[in-house]
Amino acid sequence: MTDQLEITDAPKIVIAVDGYSSSGKSTMARELAKRVGYIYVDSGAMYRAVTLYALRNDMINEDGSVKTEALIPHLRRLEVSFEQLPGEDGVQHTLLNGEDVENEIREMKVSKHVSPIAVIPEVRERMVQLQQQMGLQKGIVMDGRDIGTTVFPHAELKVFVYAGLHERARRRWRELSNKGMDIRFEEVYANLEERDRIDTTREVSPLVKAEDAIEFDNGAVTHEEQMEWLIKLFQETIERIENESRG
Ligand code: C5P
Repeated sequence: MTDQLEITDAPKIVIAVDGYSSSGKSTMARELAKRVGYIYVDSGAMYRAVTLYALRNDMINEDGSVKTEALIPHLRRLEVSFEQLPGEDGVQHTLLNGEDVENEIREMKVSKHVSPIAVIPEVRERMVQLQQQMGLQKGIVMDGRDIGTTVFPHAELKVFVYAGLHERARRRWRELSNKGMDIRFEEVYANLEERDRIDTTREVSPLVKAEDAIEFDNGAVTHEEQMEWLIKLFQETIERIENESRG
């Protein structure tokens, strides 16, 4: 059990954690949220949920291209939310129109199609709208690709997480294998490489470090070192904001 920080009187802030797939950003963001008593939102899960919806409703062609015209009219009514089940310490379940789809959205069939779905401007517009609503009260840590640039450009703390492709693929492969999925390392590696390519080159909100984001190389550090660094950064940010508000 991790210790909760004593920050009850401190101002609540918005924290954006962006970075490449499987860079470890979600683990960092989730744990930070838990330690400081903030809401945690995995924005990638939202794009995955839309992808699952498209797969289930025959909106993806055999060649992987998306039937964009068919998907767009559904977006307005599509609800993606999160819930925590009692007894599951900090684990979040993604809900698609109220249905728990947490396990299904992590499967390779979704990973394979998610980046082409996330390219569609109307999909991004709807997701960003939902994400911004979640951040209205502040006190939120959100991880993704465009959180510091598009979703919360005024976030008080922005972090950009790096890790090499091989290390990220290893991490992801281990995670999926631990969940009992029978998958080859090469397939995971190729999927990450392809998603990196699409995510960094798309026209709307490509994956790019916000100018004021603080970089973190997550390649060769332990989990404790990651968290120590992040908590310190959080505390310094709160202190800075408190000093600024005192004038
Ligand atoms: O974070 P995760 O790897 O689960 O995200 C899945 C995909 O969703 C990414 O590869 C990217 O295409 C898309 N995504 C995005 N913008 C975000 C979060 C995720 O485009 N803010």
